[in-house]
Amino acid sequence: MARKQIVNADIVTAKGVLKGKTIIFDDKIEAITDKPEDGLETLDGSGKILLPGLIDMHIHGYNGYDCSDGTEEAIESVAKGIVANGVTAFLPTTMTVSVAELEAAFEAARKVKNRQNSEAKFGNSTATVIGVHAEGPFIAMAKKGAQNPKYIINPPDAEFVKKHSDIIKMITIAPETDDNCKAIREITSETGVIVSAGHTTADYETMQKAIDAGVTHATHLFNAMPSISHREPGGTTALLFSDKVSCELICDGIHVHKGWFEPVYRIKKNKLNLITDCLRACGLKDGSYESGGLKFTLKGNECRLPDGTIAGSVLKLNEGVRNLYESGVPLHEAVNCASLYNADTLGVDGERGQLKEGLCADIVVCDSALNVKEVYKNGELAFKE
Ligand SMILES: [Zn+2]
Repeated sequence: MARKQIVNADIVTAKGVLKGKTIIFDDKIEAITDKPEDGLETLDGSGKILLPGLIDMHIHGYNGYDCSDGTEEAIESVAKGIVANGVTAFLPTTMTVSVAELEAAFEAARKVKNRQNSEAKFGNSTATVIGVHAEGPFIAMAKKGAQNPKYIINPPDAEFVKKHSDIIKMITIAPETDDNCKAIREITSETGVIVSAGHTTADYETMQKAIDAGVTHATHLFNAMPSISHREPGGTTALLFSDKVSCELICDGIHVHKGWFEPVYRIKKNKLNLITDCLRACGLKDGSYESGGLKFTLKGNECRLPDGTIAGSVLKLNEGVRNLYESGVPLHEAVNCASLYNADTLGVDGERGQLKEGLCADIVVCDSALNVKEVYKNGELAFKE
């Protein structure tokens, strides 16, 4: 692979924006410097902003495919499609579907992950599968959201998670369905799987106990969990204010009012994780689609079930960063919430998540409005508008 440099660009690092710099890279980032090197393949970054590859830990589908389809083609297509939004690593996220469908989806994710590791060309043109986020099936019927009630299983089955802990990176569980947090304790003490509280009715006290037992993450904070009230703070408040818990946020202004964006950042800081919760309709036109066996309609930016329930999103992660930035969060911090802090939550910050010497050369070239123009994956061009 030829070493390259992008010169005269504004480079977003973890600590701030460096103006008019040069970044030198091969498959890894070699240097961020004032001085371009002679004799290298040189790209002009004038007027461009460079971001690290973004990481989406909660995304179901893209361009007509769903990670629960149970095929490698589906996961590969999502992995290829989302690069256009600056995403270079992700957790294919399963819906609450049947156990057989879940196991087929896990197997497909395993195969795609192995192929990415063994075939450089494939690995350099698709967003890296870090592992799977299983959104259910151990969730609360009363907060099912757009998950299919037919496949909800209570109480949570720790054995099932342990059996697939080689590929499950994160599992969404409703803690109140877990007797004395037994499964939460077992999963977090015996595996590296992150237990995320979500699709839950847990009150404040129950959620505190679940955090003590091992919950360290929250699935789309505010959505499919109790509303916050002064006499009944609910599990949501426990998640929002715990220093041990990282929180996902769908920054689209539909799932969560934009008035919450900057305040949630101020509370969570490096524990805020932007996600898309994107469905197969993302990247496609308005129309009728299906997710986990349920029909939904996409109109504009909104996906809804026939009864009006919000069903996932068609948000793109770079748009989420823009929305957080426009709410008053400094640019580098809005970017960190979709890259470094997500890498940190997933334990992959030693490889990726920021533009820094020694890390993967996953580089997103944007215009000043954060529209993605080009993406380099492990130093190779993976997307060009
Ligand atoms: Zn979801």
